[in-house]
Amino acid sequence: MRKNSNTIITNEKINDTKLTHAKKIITELYNELPTYISRGYGPFLAAIYDSSGQLIAKTANTVVKDTCSHNHAEMNAIHAAEEILHTYDLSAHNLSLYVTAEPCIMCLGGIMLSGIKEIYFGVPSNIVEDITGFDEGFKPNWIEEFKHRNITVYGNIESKSGEKVLRDYVNKKHIIYKPERI
Ligand SMILES: [Zn+2]
Repeated sequence: MRKNSNTIITNEKINDTKLTHAKKIITELYNELPTYISRGYGPFLAAIYDSSGQLIAKTANTVVKDTCSHNHAEMNAIHAAEEILHTYDLSAHNLSLYVTAEPCIMCLGGIMLSGIKEIYFGVPSNIVEDITGFDEGFKPNWIEEFKHRNITVYGNIESKSGEKVLRDYVNKKHIIYKPERI
């Protein structure tokens, strides 16, 4: 049902103000991502903003650049925000994380443990997997699980634009970093 659909994925009644704002930010991230890719970053970009709209951190995926399998964009952004704000619990800061694709199994854990209050993502994982061959992991009922933890989720935001960036990444033969499963 999610595939090839423009339907917004969410765990609350859609708030048009939040959604319009998220579309603007995620479109900016899609537009900036090719420059990161050309500099050796992976094809995902995340940004964390506070509730007044102040940018706290923006980082792309650095798995290849840093030779580190867990340096996904979301993990890098959370790491940077915690360093900047000097805390391992971001909840008091009412932060929102915006990312160009649905978080993988690892990043969902990282987001859950960080105290981030809202997440907004672009391309859903099943489409990321179809286009790139990355393994996004098993994530049963994660959107409901986040609701139980008072983490708001909006996804599939302007995803056609994000899909195009991922297709370009693959077409230009950039590295698909993942463990061999043989
Ligand atoms: Zn991830």
